[in-house]
Amino acid sequence: MSQKRKPKKPIAETFGVTQLYRMFPDEESCWRWLENLRWGGTPVCPHCGSCEEGDIKPPPPSKPHHHWCKPCRKHFTATTGTVMHSRRRPLQDWIYTIYSVLTARKGVSAMQLSKELDCHYRTAWYMLHRIREACGSGTFTLSEVVEVDETYIGGKEKNKHASKKLKAGRGTVGKIPVLGMRERSGRLKAMPVAAVNKVTLQGLITDNVEAGTTIYTDEHGGYEGLAGLFYGHESVKHSVKEYVNGLCHINGVESVWALLKRSIHGTWHHVSPKHLARYVNEASFRLNEGNVSIDTIERMESLVRSIVRTDRLPLAKMTADNGLSRHVQGVA
Ligand SMILES: [Zn+2]
Repeated sequence: MSQKRKPKKPIAETFGVTQLYRMFPDEESCWRWLENLRWGGTPVCPHCGSCEEGDIKPPPPSKPHHHWCKPCRKHFTATTGTVMHSRRRPLQDWIYTIYSVLTARKGVSAMQLSKELDCHYRTAWYMLHRIREACGSGTFTLSEVVEVDETYIGGKEKNKHASKKLKAGRGTVGKIPVLGMRERSGRLKAMPVAAVNKVTLQGLITDNVEAGTTIYTDEHGGYEGLAGLFYGHESVKHSVKEYVNGLCHINGVESVWALLKRSIHGTWHHVSPKHLARYVNEASFRLNEGNVSIDTIERMESLVRSIVRTDRLPLAKMTADNGLSRHVQGVA
C-alpha cells in the first residue's frame, strides 16, 4: 500500500549578495525599485498629496529623481518625508542594509555594517536605527490564540562595575521588562514596558489583541482578570514546574526571547535602554517576515513599504530621553 506523502511546503527563493548586486547594479535601478514600491508608477507629492496629471513636473536630467510639484511648488523624491530622508549614503547601501537586516538570523551590528559599506560607524548605526524604527510601523492586531509573556533585558548585577551596581538585590533589578504577544500562527508584537503591573500589561494587551481571543500566559499577577476583558484566559504554573497544560503553553513566545537575547549577546553586544524598543522592533519584524515560504525579495519589499510610511527620524528625536535611563549591558 502506498503511503500518502505530506504536501511539501513551498520553498522561498533566497539569494546571496552577488545576486543582490546583479539585481541592483546601480543607483538608477535602486531608484526605479523604490519609486515603484512607493508610488506604483505615478509620483505623488508627499507635501500636499497632489498626483493629478500636469501637477508633477518630470525630473530634469541634472537631478534625475527630483520631482517638482506645481500646486505646492516644492521638490520631492521617493525618500522625502521617510526615515531615508536626507540620507548621505547611496540608495544601493540602504538596499544592502535592508537585505542584511532581513537575512542575518541574529541581525547585523553597526560595526560589521560599517566595515562592509566602508563608512563611519556612526553612519551605519544611524542607518540601522532608522530601519529598525520602520520595522515597528506594523498596525495589525493579534487574534485567535495568543501567547503573552514578559522578559527582562539587562546585565547581571554581579557582572557590573562597582560604580554601576544598583545594590538593590538580584534577578530583575536594573533590567528593562519587554512584553511579547505571539499568535500560535507565528505573528509577534513585542515592546519594552515601563512596568509590569496590571494596568500597563493589560492596557497593551487590549490595544494589540482582539476581543474574543484565547490568551495563554504564566501565573504572573499582571495577567489576572484578563477573562473579565472579553478574553479566554488560561495560565501555566511555572512555579510548580508546569510548562504545558493541554493546549495552554507559552513556548512560542519564550522561543522569541531566546532569539532576542542571542541577537543582543551575539551581535549587538550593547543595547541602550533608549534604543531597546527599536532592537525589539527589528527582531519582531524578522520573525514576522521570516516565514520560510516568503521570498527574500518579498520580505525586502515589505520592509521598504514600512520604511516609506515611517516618518523621518531626526537624530535629536532618536536620542531623546524616553524615561528608561537605566543602563543595559549584556543579557540576563
Ligand atoms: Zn505638492
